[in-house]
Amino acid sequence: MSTTPQPLPSGPDRLEGAAPASRMHDQSEETSAIVELVLDYSRRRILADNIPLDKAMTAPELVRLAGNAISEEGLGARRALGLFEHVLAPACISVDHPGFVSFIPAAPTKASIAFDLVVSASAIYGGSWMEGSGAIHAENEVLAFLAAEFGLPPEAGGVFVQGGTVGNLSALVAARHHARATRKARGLAQPDEWVILSGESTHSSVASAAAVMDVRVVRVPADSEGRLSGPGVELALQEHKDSVFAVVATAGSTNLGIVDDIASIAALKDEHEFWLHVDGAYGLAAILVPEMRATFEGVGRADSVIVDPHKWLFAPFDACALIYRDPAAARAAHRQSASYLDPLNEAEDWNPSDLSFQLTRRPRGLPLWFSLATYGVAEYRRSIAASLDLARAIADEIETRPSLRLIRRPDLSVVAFERIGWAADDYARWSAALLDDQRAFVMPSAHEGAPILRFAVLNPRTSVELLVAILDTID
Ligand SMILES: *Cc1c(COP(=O)(O)O)cnc(C)c1O
Repeated sequence: MSTTPQPLPSGPDRLEGAAPASRMHDQSEETSAIVELVLDYSRRRILADNIPLDKAMTAPELVRLAGNAISEEGLGARRALGLFEHVLAPACISVDHPGFVSFIPAAPTKASIAFDLVVSASAIYGGSWMEGSGAIHAENEVLAFLAAEFGLPPEAGGVFVQGGTVGNLSALVAARHHARATRKARGLAQPDEWVILSGESTHSSVASAAAVMDVRVVRVPADSEGRLSGPGVELALQEHKDSVFAVVATAGSTNLGIVDDIASIAALKDEHEFWLHVDGAYGLAAILVPEMRATFEGVGRADSVIVDPHKWLFAPFDACALIYRDPAAARAAHRQSASYLDPLNEAEDWNPSDLSFQLTRRPRGLPLWFSLATYGVAEYRRSIAASLDLARAIADEIETRPSLRLIRRPDLSVVAFERIGWAADDYARWSAALLDDQRAFVMPSAHEGAPILRFAVLNPRTSVELLVAILDTID
């Protein structure tokens, strides 16, 4: 079989004479022109060398500049796209700009962005094997690759969901379902209140998940290095003996990039029964770098793990890889039943919709699959290693500057520091000026109640020169 792309079949609709009931679905010249316009814009944006950083506008400004695009007659594609290109897009910060080092940036590979268009064009339903087997096979290949990197057993499997928030919720719902079922099977009473043990730098989405699930989050104090670790978790397990159903360890906190001591937490599984969920949304990608493997030791014992490809695996928004040690436990919690879904459930196929809190899904793992297949894994390992090197280099630079104080040596690629003597207002003013000048987007954050600055570096186009130039603007 040839693997060279062949032209797609064209010609008359197979249902002879069946003209579409709307001009929005036909093959007219108007339709071709719309598609060309959009592809042309996409091509220019994907290949652009110097993308502007841009910034938000106020709602009244946008009302004035954008006017009403929605009317009975429509604007036509040319004007609508012009409105997007010249008014709306400039009112959105380019998250892939090299100077975007706030929050967690995104830096999708060119192949992954381009393939995202293919995913849209292909109209694939990614919820069931019956409908999307080819796409699901490819997504599963990526999940199996990640699971092996994490040290999970070959039976592990999962699904790409929208983001880390949905990934954490889905994993924790599966965890509680499992705990309930286990107690029921043993004839034990269910606790009045279920508890999740988490750390001091656990992501806010875990609290959100707990609120949705109506369970309590108990924060375990950090060890001397700011990590959640075994001894603290063990005390909390004893204290909340019959109500803990999950422990959430963070593999790279969002604010400071701290990796919990997962090995010592996982070791508690020898003595205690709990579901270990590892939230590696941002940081777990670094396990692809061989020298970093030891940092994440213990991940292989997790019951569920997440990592966001839209963060440090260079895929476009939005995708979270959610992987379970035992996918059957997730299926038991998440499979929806309805008469119209019965044929799917009876088939015993691998249905991604059984594994998370969502039914309809685009096969959002495909852009990562295509990019990995295109460039090879080694290129990913090198790119992630480059962010780690850059973070260390800029941390060194910060340490040479007397007016700055590094908060901690970067564990991963977040570099947090303070400008000695600055108050929250000073940080805010400096940050706004930097964005106004369209140089960079660096939002202040906070640590132990005090304002700080942080660079989150994962874009391979972010250079040490650029970061040094940003530091030079702090006086
Ligand atoms: C970003 C992040 C999340 C949330 O992921 P979304 O994709 O934004 O929903 C959860 N946990 C950690 C550690 C994160 O960095």
